[in-house]
Amino acid sequence: MSIARTLILKISDNTWLREHGTRIGFVRRAVSRFMPGETFDDMLGAARALEASGIASVFTRLGENVRDRAEADAVAAHYLDGIARIRTLGISCEPSIKLTQLGLDIDPALAWTHALALAQAASAAGSYFWVDMEQSPYVDRTLGLVRRLRDEVPQVGVCLQAYLRRTPADLADMQARGIGVRLVKGAYNEPADVAWPQKSDVDAQYAELAYRMISVEGRAAGSRAVFGTHDLTIVEQIRARAAATDVPPAAYEFHMLYGIQREGQLRLSRERAIVRILIAYGDYWFPWYMRRLAERPANVGFVIRSLFSR
Ligand SMILES: Cc1cc2nc3c(=O)[nH]c(=O)nc-3n(C[C@H](O)[C@H](O)[C@H](O)COP(=O)(O)OP(=O)(O)OC[C@H]3O[C@@H](n4cnc5c(N)ncnc54)[C@H](O)[C@@H]3O)c2cc1C
Repeated sequence: MSIARTLILKISDNTWLREHGTRIGFVRRAVSRFMPGETFDDMLGAARALEASGIASVFTRLGENVRDRAEADAVAAHYLDGIARIRTLGISCEPSIKLTQLGLDIDPALAWTHALALAQAASAAGSYFWVDMEQSPYVDRTLGLVRRLRDEVPQVGVCLQAYLRRTPADLADMQARGIGVRLVKGAYNEPADVAWPQKSDVDAQYAELAYRMISVEGRAAGSRAVFGTHDLTIVEQIRARAAATDVPPAAYEFHMLYGIQREGQLRLSRERAIVRILIAYGDYWFPWYMRRLAERPANVGFVIRSLFSR
């Protein structure tokens, strides 16, 4: 792992900066590249603009490691309201949540109650329900809860991280249960016994798992195959493998983050690939934004430029 990535991810864990970083003007300007705004309406505006260009979306309100029951309740109420508003508008915009935002650190039963209510509301609105993956100590609890959700609602999916050594086994389990998988490389600082430290190994495991996801056996139980990546080389490898093995473009999807690889998003959509954009919003964006910087330390240049712009 590069020194710059490790350093930026350590800054993302700094409590003082988490609380104060979002108030620094030039940091706020720099983040606007990845976030249409802090409110649900800002997110909706971006989702509607994307929909007009034929691209559907996923929404997530930024926040994690909620420590207070009332806050977890408020987050759940916010998502319930958001799901209802999206249903009324009739746009395709799927919720994606972090379990620690629904109270997993406080009480697993609380997170379960909220997650179930949200998954049921999404299902009633005809929408899929996504669960993000956080740091490695949360993986077992996240997958356990997602398995239980799958017993209650059919349209549920979870993010799996290709950098984790355990992911091939987790993928097989999710596929066998017909749980959707959004495969990503992984955004956190993880120890080498848990995650592949070399990017080349992560990329190789990503491609290998992606091929399993598009295979006929991988899709047999109805698991939705989603690739959450901006790596256009891997994207083209997946499309080429799919074409060579007669897997139709409708059988898999690419999800990207708002503001990253915009040209690539539009090109894929023009070429009839299924593309969705994950739009994040909210005021608790500092650690999330630091993870975006860590993915591409060259982004720090944008922060420095916004220091001098008005
Ligand atoms: C839809 C979606 C959902 C996600 N959900 C989770 C989750 O639940 N848990 C989790 O751990 N991680 C999640 N991630 C983040 C993911 O783990 C990676 O950290 C992130 O996607 C960067 O990896 P990459 O696959 O794009 O490949 P990389 O090899 O990192 O990047 C490939 C290329 O994409 C471009 N790029 C990548 N990132 C950036 C950036 N920040 N700014 C500008 N250009 C960039 C660059 O051109 C780079 O060369 C999610 C990502 C996406 C797209």
